[in-house]
Amino acid sequence: MDIDQFIRKVPNWPKPGILFYDITTLLADPKVFAYVIDELIRPFQNEKIDKVVGIDARGFILAGVVSYKLGAGVSLIRKKGKLPYQTLQESYSYEYAAETVEMHEDAIKKGERVLIVDDLIATGGTLEAATKLITRLGGEIVGIAAIIDLPSVGGSAKLKNYHLHTLINYQSEKVV
Ligand code: AMP
Repeated sequence: MDIDQFIRKVPNWPKPGILFYDITTLLADPKVFAYVIDELIRPFQNEKIDKVVGIDARGFILAGVVSYKLGAGVSLIRKKGKLPYQTLQESYSYEYAAETVEMHEDAIKKGERVLIVDDLIATGGTLEAATKLITRLGGEIVGIAAIIDLPSVGGSAKLKNYHLHTLINYQSEKVV
């Protein structure tokens, strides 16, 4: 299936010059959503996965279904100030701004095998912060799955030491 036609491209959002890849149109189609989930988990189906980590906020939608399919639990990485219990934090500089993400200090137990999921890899800053939080908690990162990769922005190269699985590449995140 060519999922490109189900990803809406929104020029100049959230700021002028950025081409935003909107997956809400893909999520809204039951057949395409099911296909994308099946494809995201394909390389990890025979792995033992204890936790699927979803990244705020579109990653949560994917993590819920992926974890159910893999027989794993879900742990959340959220933007600063959203989690109620004690957290670990990582700050990084994001494409649009500086950002801090957090995870509950008991969200991953030492030695747990973790799959991280998100919708898109741009600079990879968010996913890199996620790998640091999970590693600090003693988790073992089995892989990272995302629907879209923007290789020209550099994130997938930054994450090359992990088993990185993406479904579609776009060369540009700039409005041309
Ligand atoms: P990153 O630069 O890899 O840390 O990207 C952080 C998050 O921003 C990703 O999880 C995406 O959800 C979102 N994002 C960044 N750039 C885009 C884009 N061009 N289109 C859609 N989402 C984006």
